[in-house]
Amino acid sequence: MSDDLTPDGLTPDGLPEDLTVLNPATEDVVATVPATTAEQVDAAVARAAAAQRRWAALAPGDRARLLRRFADAVDGAVEELARLELREAGHTLGNARWEAGNVRDLLEYAAGGVERLTGRQIPVAGGLDITFHEPLGVVAVIAPWNFPMPIAGWGFAPALAAGNAVLLKPAETTPLTALRLAELALAAGLPEGLFQVLPGHGRITGRALVDHPGVRKVVFTGSTAVGKEIMARCASRLKRVTLELGGKSPNIVFADADLEKAAASAPMSFLDNSGQDCCARTRILVQREVYDDFLARVAPAIAAVRVGDPADPDTEMGPLISALQRDRVNSFLADDQKVLAQGDAPSGRGFWCPPTLLAPAEDSRAATEEIFGPVAVVLPFTDEADALRLANATRYGLSGSLWTRDLGRAVRLARGVNAGNLSVNSHSSVRYWTPFGGFGESGLGRELGPDALAHFTETKNVFFATEE
Ligand code: NAD
Repeated sequence: MSDDLTPDGLTPDGLPEDLTVLNPATEDVVATVPATTAEQVDAAVARAAAAQRRWAALAPGDRARLLRRFADAVDGAVEELARLELREAGHTLGNARWEAGNVRDLLEYAAGGVERLTGRQIPVAGGLDITFHEPLGVVAVIAPWNFPMPIAGWGFAPALAAGNAVLLKPAETTPLTALRLAELALAAGLPEGLFQVLPGHGRITGRALVDHPGVRKVVFTGSTAVGKEIMARCASRLKRVTLELGGKSPNIVFADADLEKAAASAPMSFLDNSGQDCCARTRILVQREVYDDFLARVAPAIAAVRVGDPADPDTEMGPLISALQRDRVNSFLADDQKVLAQGDAPSGRGFWCPPTLLAPAEDSRAATEEIFGPVAVVLPFTDEADALRLANATRYGLSGSLWTRDLGRAVRLARGVNAGNLSVNSHSSVRYWTPFGGFGESGLGRELGPDALAHFTETKNVFFATEE
């Protein structure tokens, strides 16, 4: 037993030394996983630093080849990973398969960047000036439970491709797919120690990674409160940090829009993954002229969403991740506010919550705070200026959608809404080859896209004198 643990199976902070993974649909125990102690983090950082030096010294083509083999290994395990995701996170099978495939795609895309991580030759007098992208060293990726595989992959794939080692700390509730991915990496030939998964508590394992001087960058996705703490701790150590935090994204529907399409897509734009999605379009803003017409289409569609066993191919929405998350979501439903639509959800075991549409006051908790569950609010607006005012009346700024047939308005709104990712006449999802990140309290820095690898490097400028 490590010095960090007491004989009663609790850490000195009173947290259990093992993580218990529950199936959110049944509450059955799926697995118990030892939580990584602070001293184990020290040892992992030392192993990662040694592996990183060897990895960075490999020829770019060899690193790219090994990452492609890792991608192939993930591809061969898509079904297995998806079933694991279903059991530990309650995701529908279709979503879970997509998520495992997304990790494969992220690895392939990043592998394509290894040989393209070029510097510049800059004209100077008396010599030759060249820039290099040097890897940072050891990078920590602290992942959440809502999309355990893709969000981990957004960090680890480009970080590895840029020549870094990665220590991945999955969320307490969802460590299993991450552990399996680390096994697949080893089997594919990635050096021992290069990509390690450290399951554990945020306040112990997560903090130890953030505070460790050997970790040069922290990539964090989760709550705004924890993101702020991590940024403060990184600041005192001059450590790079990328934060992908919450959202309260608008779905703006103008009277001139294709109402049928806008209404048909609105339910799953906030109910996918049971609403546990930082990009969920949870504030539906509708122009007054079509408010009643829109609601008449949307309310029955929300009530009809099939909620149940995530393994059933007909299921559209599974459970929430945990009892804690269900209680958080229910705290928004307890308020005295008008319910416009509510679907069904199983009763009994499992962390269920029905799809719900509310019509609260503009400044209510439900209309302003991230709920992270299958709950949206609908608010009317009068004109374009009013739509923009409402859309930007949030401390967040992650994503949003707008529906209109007026091209000029679409351009004006797309430029006017303070958010990092917008889609017009669609609810486009995150693509690994386009940049992603938030304005305001939704985060800091960008992930994915053509510059993803460069975010995991230091630029070095070298001048070679040519004068004799
Ligand atoms: P959280 O921020 O507490 O946890 C996210 C990750 O950070 C987990 O791996 C956790 O172990 C780790 N962590 C927690 N405290 C830490 C610390 N002090 N130092 C280092 N790492 C730490 O999120 P949560 O409690 O699981 O969820 C709370 C709310 O956060 C949700 O209701 C939702 O609103 C939001 N959330 C957002 C996202 C997102 O994608 N942006 C994801 C998950 C949760």
